[in-house]
Amino acid sequence: MSILQEVRLGAEPIDRFEPLLGAAYVRAAKQVGEAIRTRLEGRVVWNVNSTAVGGGVAEMLQSLLAYSRGLGVDGRWVVIRGSPEFFRVTKRLHHALHGAPGDQSPLDGTERRVYEETLHENARELVSLVRPRDVVLLHDPQTAGLAPHLLEAGARVIWRCHIGHDKPNDEVDRGWRFLDQYLHEVPAYVFSRQAYVPDFCDHGKAVVIPPSIDAFSPKNEELDEDTVRTILVHVGLVEGPPPASAPHTFRRENETPGRVERHADVVRLGRAPRWEAPLVVQVSRWDPLKDPRGVVLGFAQLLEAGGAGEAELVLAGPNVHGVADDPEAAQVFDDTLAVWRDLPHGVRDRVHLACLPTADIEENAVIVNALQRHAAIVVQKSLHEGFGLTVAEAMWKARPVVASAVGGIQDQIDDGVHGLLLQDPRDLGAFAQALRGLIADPARARRLGEAARERVRERYLGIRHLIEYARLIERLDT
Ligand code: UDP
Repeated sequence: MSILQEVRLGAEPIDRFEPLLGAAYVRAAKQVGEAIRTRLEGRVVWNVNSTAVGGGVAEMLQSLLAYSRGLGVDGRWVVIRGSPEFFRVTKRLHHALHGAPGDQSPLDGTERRVYEETLHENARELVSLVRPRDVVLLHDPQTAGLAPHLLEAGARVIWRCHIGHDKPNDEVDRGWRFLDQYLHEVPAYVFSRQAYVPDFCDHGKAVVIPPSIDAFSPKNEELDEDTVRTILVHVGLVEGPPPASAPHTFRRENETPGRVERHADVVRLGRAPRWEAPLVVQVSRWDPLKDPRGVVLGFAQLLEAGGAGEAELVLAGPNVHGVADDPEAAQVFDDTLAVWRDLPHGVRDRVHLACLPTADIEENAVIVNALQRHAAIVVQKSLHEGFGLTVAEAMWKARPVVASAVGGIQDQIDDGVHGLLLQDPRDLGAFAQALRGLIADPARARRLGEAARERVRERYLGIRHLIEYARLIERLDT
């Protein structure tokens, strides 16, 4: 392969889900796996996207494909290649489907030419790999233009869109106008929410499958308290000393032990929070839609009005320094820093801005895991969200979550049952009030956390979605 990159995949047994979902469930899942394996008769289930690392889609593919291979299905993953101009156009499309103007380019004929030419080159190579009746899952706008080529080659094509907007607007329409001509003949689409299914789409062909988390990845695997503490002390997010004996090790995807070696870059005034201090935590990319500024100002309101107890805020995201291709992240971090600098001394003392190391993606994941597990409250105060992976991750760790009632988060949390929803994410008073209520009522916080974990067990573990994909492929193939 010269253009396409094939991602190496392992195979994970699904037996490990027995303690979580029961032996009967795992048996039934294996039967579904067996049925689809027989039906496919050695045909391949290809997945095509535009990045092998970074972002929720890559993370999900890694895990879903490993389990599908564990079930004996030949799932494979290839990544397309494109020029910076191609990715500018697809980023523009991405923003449009989120309802935002992005760089405000017109998405016109010139941009269409760039898009089509790139995908044409990728398609030439892809159709030489894909055999007739192979199944091809194309992920997101970056790959939609491959569909006509693959259909012509006799593949069973599914388009899986991971993004969407609650209330379509002109930008959303513009994005769909660009994409719909490639998608008309596709026999099945998958969206994350019902509200994201666009009008042009034959609703009979659309299936809703939400994103999912992998309970056994470094991001979500169980960590005992000593390990959590050791990791957080080591990276500098909690004051030392670490427990005497615990190692800062974790299990990598390939089963080898990993070790947290790097440190977080933390902006703070005084010391790291004590281990006993309850932490309010938001983990997000440095993106204005995650509203880091609002999180800091809302927490400051809480401190000033009283009712925060000993709580401290940790706002964590990936390291932005030296990431040349994401200038927006550095800018958002700097803006957040400016807000932090303006806080009164006594407030600033309890607000920590952390950039987590990203050189080793699994090391980064286990730090996020430890931080989420240690949080007294996890916050996701997004202004817009397709689906909150961080919300699902925190819920799985039985944390009480305070999150905005936007996008997929509204499906994830029933307000007051699996967490608390902020009806207006810009209302800082309501945000402070929600935190205050949870800090004052640990029993309620615990109940919400327990219900949250159960919600994820029932709905958002990848293995369940794998079965839905298997059923979809079965339907498509008849
Ligand atoms: N994340 C991470 N390290 C960080 C910050 C975020 O691994 O320093 C992960 C986070 O745990 C989650 C993903 O990035 O798995 C973000 O997904 P989400 O759906 O919350 O937001 P998106 O970034 O897709 O808008």
